[in-house]
Amino acid sequence: MADNTYMLEVVTPERVLQSNEVSFTVVPAIDGELGVMKNHAPLVAALNIGVLRYVDAAGSEKRIAISGGFIEVLDNEGRILAETAEHGHEIDVLRAKAARERAERRLEQRAENINYVRAEQALKRAIARLKAAGAYSD
Ligand code: ATP
Repeated sequence: MADNTYMLEVVTPERVLQSNEVSFTVVPAIDGELGVMKNHAPLVAALNIGVLRYVDAAGSEKRIAISGGFIEVLDNEGRILAETAEHGHEIDVLRAKAARERAERRLEQRAENINYVRAEQALKRAIARLKAAGAYSD
C-alpha cells in the first residue's frame, strides 16, 4: 500500500497536543475550510475558532477543537499553533455547555457594559468544543 501519510503536529502555548502521522486534515482557515493531503504545496494560513478534523494512519477520523492560530505546511509536515486546542475525547461537555449558555445569555442582554465581541468569541469556542466532542445540538 502506498504511504499517503504526513506528520501533523498540534501545539498550544501549554502543550504539544499531538505529533502523529495522518493522511488528511481539514482546518478552519479564516477564508474557509482547507484540506491538506500529502505533498501539499507550502502554505501558511490563519485559523478561526472551529473544529480541525484529521484521518489518522489507521484510517479513523478524529476531531480537535481549536480557538484560532496558524497552520504551516512544509515538506510533508503540518504544524498548527493554536491558542487553545483539545481532542474531542478530552473535552468537558458540561463545562462547554455552561460556557455556551453563559455567552448566549450575555449576547441576549442589551446592556452597555457587555463586551459583545468577547461573548461572541466565547460562544464560538464553546460551540467548537461541543462539535468536536460530538455533543452539539442547535
Ligand atoms: P470557560 O469559560 O469554560 O473557561 P473558555 O472558552 O473561556 O471556557 P479558554 O480560555 O478558551 O476557556 O481555555 C482555558 C483552558 O481551558 C485551555 O487550556 C483550554 O484548553 C481549556 N478548556 C476550556 N474549555 C474546556 C472544556 N470544555 N473541556 C476541556 N478543556 C477546556
